[in-house]
Amino acid sequence: MSKQKSPETDETSGESTSTGDTEPESALANARRQLERAAAYVDVEDGVIERLKHPTKLQQVSVPLRRDDGSLEVFTGYRAQHDDVRGPYKGGIRYHPDVSAEECIGLSMWMTWKCAVMDLPFGGGKGGITVDPKTLSDEERERLTRRLAEELRDVVGPKQDVPAPDMGTGPKEMAWFMDAYSMQEGETMPGVVTGKPPVIGGSYGREEAPGRSVAIITREAIDYYGWDIEDTTVAVQGFGSVGANAARLLDEWGASIVAVSDVDGAIYDPDGLDTQDVEGHDERPGMVSGYDAPETLSNAELLELDVDVVIPAAVGNVITADNVDDIDADLLVEGANGPTTFAADTILEERGVPVVPDILANAGGVTVSYFEWLQDINRRQWSLDRVHEELEEEMLKAWAAVQREVDEQDLSWRDAAYVVALSRIGKAKETRGLWP
Ligand code: GLU
Repeated sequence: MSKQKSPETDETSGESTSTGDTEPESALANARRQLERAAAYVDVEDGVIERLKHPTKLQQVSVPLRRDDGSLEVFTGYRAQHDDVRGPYKGGIRYHPDVSAEECIGLSMWMTWKCAVMDLPFGGGKGGITVDPKTLSDEERERLTRRLAEELRDVVGPKQDVPAPDMGTGPKEMAWFMDAYSMQEGETMPGVVTGKPPVIGGSYGREEAPGRSVAIITREAIDYYGWDIEDTTVAVQGFGSVGANAARLLDEWGASIVAVSDVDGAIYDPDGLDTQDVEGHDERPGMVSGYDAPETLSNAELLELDVDVVIPAAVGNVITADNVDDIDADLLVEGANGPTTFAADTILEERGVPVVPDILANAGGVTVSYFEWLQDINRRQWSLDRVHEELEEEMLKAWAAVQREVDEQDLSWRDAAYVVALSRIGKAKETRGLWP
């Protein structure tokens, strides 16, 4: 599908740029429309809803970089801080050519809801640099990241705003960011970012966490609709960190993963792929579409497969008004951030196709980030088993809270997740009051 961009994300993604179709759907516009829609179902003061349409703060910085050839280039970086009524701002930093102020604001709003749905003591933030990381050497990425940490030093911190990996960034960038920040502060401060390598205060299981939560939520949804996981067919768009981890777990639990993809296309086996044998995009780029499978498809065809579940786990804005009529699946679980546009979402709801939203499904990433932050504060590392157990518990709690709203108010999964998030945020705002 030519309109789609590379699904090579280290973390949950979420493009904000228009896909070129008739809907100009930025992450911010999408987030605001979702908020307005869900506000009707929740008992929160109008003024609070209005307040939540805007970020608390947007930091824009210039990030100069000495290139390997000796030349100097200046990049633009951002940090959007949406809301911190429930705790420090929390959310990723992405390196991508489409990063903009607007995109960061929209994505930071989704982080506020995501943290509230999970009942984590965090608000929402998101940042990034407008750069194609593929054009940078490792050394350039390190210098750029260290300088970004310095430029954002005043607005981030373990109690203020805690960045994490996102598209185009991963544990390495988090290590450089933490080191640069700590050097300047004069003490080792692992809690300034999450998603670090475990050897410097990162949490075991953090990298796999978004994919693991997508699998857990998909399993719960399958159960909710009374299907048998052994008879469930699943297509996963994007076989990077989120998609590969989700697909492999669901495969292990008995589902049949019939199609997976990377940026160059999809592989399809109606009898189910061996997801352990297919190398993930992050493990070896090009090996997904290069795998010897019975059939190959385009990324667009993957989304249109007649399967039980489609998991878009690559980039944002892939299910739009243009292709929604061709979606044949009975259930969508959002692995990426913002894969379904507002218009497509409305049409799917009219057709009775449930969409389990990103802010619940991929929230395992930020949940294990929270575990990492706790481990950093306590200077005590958890075992992988403990991370898995506690993640499972948190995901099931959040699932139950959202399911209650679905059942009691007859809402879509997205509206229900928003209701859970907004009522928690609204209560916190009302209780704290407005200052002065
Ligand atoms: N970037 C991830 C997300 O979109 C995780 C953010 C975090 O761990 O703070 O959920």
